[in-house]
Amino acid sequence: MIEICTVGGYNEVGKNCTAVKIDNEVVIFDLGLHLDKYIAYTEDEDIYDFSPKKLMEIGAAPDLSLINDWIDKVIAIIPTHAHLDHIGAIPFLSQKFNADIICTPYSKAVLQAILKDEKIELKNEIKALNPNSTYQLSSRIKVEFINMTHSTPQTVMVVLHTPYGRLIYANDFKFDSQPILGQKPNFQRLRELGREGISCLIVDSIYSGDAKKTPSESVAREMLKEVMTGTNSRGKAVIITTFSSHLARLKSIIEFGKKMHRKIIFLGRSLGKYVLAGEEIRIINFTKDVKLVRYREKVAKELKKIAKNKSRYLLVVTGHQGEPKAVLSRIINKEFAFKLESGDHVIFSCKVIPNEMNKQNREILESKMRDIGVRIFKDIHVSGHCAREDLRDLVEMVKPKHLIPAHCEPIMADSMVELAEELGYKRGESVHTMEDGKRLSIR
Ligand SMILES: [Zn+2]
Repeated sequence: MIEICTVGGYNEVGKNCTAVKIDNEVVIFDLGLHLDKYIAYTEDEDIYDFSPKKLMEIGAAPDLSLINDWIDKVIAIIPTHAHLDHIGAIPFLSQKFNADIICTPYSKAVLQAILKDEKIELKNEIKALNPNSTYQLSSRIKVEFINMTHSTPQTVMVVLHTPYGRLIYANDFKFDSQPILGQKPNFQRLRELGREGISCLIVDSIYSGDAKKTPSESVAREMLKEVMTGTNSRGKAVIITTFSSHLARLKSIIEFGKKMHRKIIFLGRSLGKYVLAGEEIRIINFTKDVKLVRYREKVAKELKKIAKNKSRYLLVVTGHQGEPKAVLSRIINKEFAFKLESGDHVIFSCKVIPNEMNKQNREILESKMRDIGVRIFKDIHVSGHCAREDLRDLVEMVKPKHLIPAHCEPIMADSMVELAEELGYKRGESVHTMEDGKRLSIR
């Protein structure tokens, strides 16, 4: 029998974690942070307590007490990709498990960089498994990674092959047939799996209510091209900010930065972390074209140099959500020798992640920019998550017996249930809405 416990990310978006028990063996999918709660906590306190107990208590990490009876049965921790709401709690919680961490090479490189930054040594071994390959977890359970597209490299759907059938964990993906970095989704394998038979699909339902197909990353590239090469920025400073882990987006930014004949400088620690992780596993070679400046004093020094001739540079900086400590906010707050002036360009290649803290931070930042007279280009972005029509395609391809909406608030799960009902599923029988801590047995 397969038993599923939805540990985190089913009442709200964040701290993703799902445990699957096959008789006496348990596999954990994702061990993520609730980023807003984690950031609020680390900003407010002077002395941090990063113990599992504290992080769970404040809701920043999945509540593992919900699977207390399963903890000693865990044989593997499998994060699907390198985003912190999927891997961010691993450094703090995985010590509770006597199990390996199995993830793609990029997720491994990012995880190792985080562990180094936080000075944490894990006893768990981190094993890299390439997309589109399999690994025998135990004599009865095999894991398979299916290549997917998302807003960070080497994102996979995970298939668990068990004596009781196959389960697919599909958290965070989009169907992008023209990706900018990496391969297309492995549709062929999904169709094969549909023929082989799937017992259960646990699926990213955050945009299941949006009646559309999520546009390709190549659309975001065109949007960037228009703004970067199609507006007159002669004599002006140009600053771009985006998600540091979005290497495909950064690749497009570099491409057009070169067309603008500007020297490209990346400023900020998190950009350094994700770019160097990508270079380590040789999926990118940005530092051939880009100067990477990571640490505070060096950023200040570099900006002093840039201030003398600002229109010769394209600055890629951290701080797209208006984070007060990131480089963009500190430039606007006149903490450096380099200052923005009327007519300079700031491009946000992102959307505002809709929570109160971000909305407020961005509001403050943009208002200061308007006071200076900066030209703001917002929302030069497409999502990394599937929408309703992608989900319909997925369900029709793999034809699972059971469906579980994940990565969502209850209202989003309802949209997924509605879609499932259109496809012949029945609520409570073959499509199941879960909550954090709920368990479901599948035969
Ligand atoms: Zn993600």
